[in-house]
Amino acid sequence: MTKKSTTLIKVPLLDLDRQYKSIQTEVKETLLNIFDSKQFINGPQVSELENQIATYTGSQYAIGVSSGSDALIVAMMALDIGQDDEVITTPFSFFATAGCIARLGAKPVFCDIEPNTFNIDISQIESKITSKTKAIMPVHLFGQCANMEEIQKIAKKHNLAIIEDAAQALGATYNFSDGNTKKAGNLGTIGCFSFFPSKNLGACGDAGIVTTNDKELAEKIKCLRMHGETQRYHHKYVGGNFRLDTIQAAVLSIKLTYLDDQHKGRQSNASFYNKNLLESIQKPYINSQSPSIYNQYTLKIPNRDSLKEYLSNQQIGNNIYYPIPLHLQECFQYLGYTQGDFPEAETAAKQVLSIPIFTELTQEELEYTCHHINQFVKDEY
Ligand SMILES: *Cc1c(COP(=O)(O)O)cnc(C)c1O
Repeated sequence: MTKKSTTLIKVPLLDLDRQYKSIQTEVKETLLNIFDSKQFINGPQVSELENQIATYTGSQYAIGVSSGSDALIVAMMALDIGQDDEVITTPFSFFATAGCIARLGAKPVFCDIEPNTFNIDISQIESKITSKTKAIMPVHLFGQCANMEEIQKIAKKHNLAIIEDAAQALGATYNFSDGNTKKAGNLGTIGCFSFFPSKNLGACGDAGIVTTNDKELAEKIKCLRMHGETQRYHHKYVGGNFRLDTIQAAVLSIKLTYLDDQHKGRQSNASFYNKNLLESIQKPYINSQSPSIYNQYTLKIPNRDSLKEYLSNQQIGNNIYYPIPLHLQECFQYLGYTQGDFPEAETAAKQVLSIPIFTELTQEELEYTCHHINQFVKDEY
């Protein structure tokens, strides 16, 4: 970088307005059609999106649901996970990952993370397996798949289900050592996605989807999202209202067609940061197995809090995903974990900082952001 940016410019962490501008005509037209049709529930747009997502992820079935959290809930309900069961997962994730396990009466069993990818450390999974373990729930954090080849081996060996929390990873690929490539959501028993507005594919409200290659599970999930109804007023299971709105489905269908381009933009912004941020700064670690779609671009830096303050003063958007590891959350005190149980997750919580990575960032904004992060590091060390 040669040009030194001195004037203050505001760089948002995420600017949905810029993305919306390019598709608003299409979106508005579609919404008006739905308002005219009044098919707000179970409109044809829902199964259209389901077909699109099944194709996109390479899964046989996709079932639209009301949110990413509900995707996790129905996935576990379909697998009969409940009271007395254990699910192994990461303590370094959005709350819903473990919250949903606990909501079903099952026990989240945490396993520390890798210090560089922030994903579950596969070398520690087997020691957590007991006779009560029903499933492993890896999270593809920040848009990068967990080590699924090894997780699949462990799951197979111990006869466990894999529930992918792929909320941040729609479109992320995983390269197996035999040369096969598969997409997130097609790497386990059930894949769970969120379309929360700030995710790479965001709805205009809450929405989610579940993917699977298992016909029986797909049928059960479809049934569970309609109160377990098999035919009108006949209930096979106690399900819930986990339906995906027609409006959300229609908007997502439009946006899905632009998703790969969005990812290219994020990846190119990430390359810019990788090249232009000082070498001493720990950037996202991307191995050849798991290329990232950069739901976040996350630095790891010892004096994170000062960097955060510095960037905020320079009007550069930033956020900490996540400041408190799940095993130290007040609501999980009953699980009996303490400080020091998962040192890598605890260090990550103290040192991570996510910076703007969205596709529509301008060259000037990227340079400005790099300049200030480098400046901070030079001044501090
Ligand atoms: C966003 C997210 C969820 C929850 O999705 P919602 O749609 O907000 O319910 C679950 N897990 C992870 C890792 C997430 O990032």
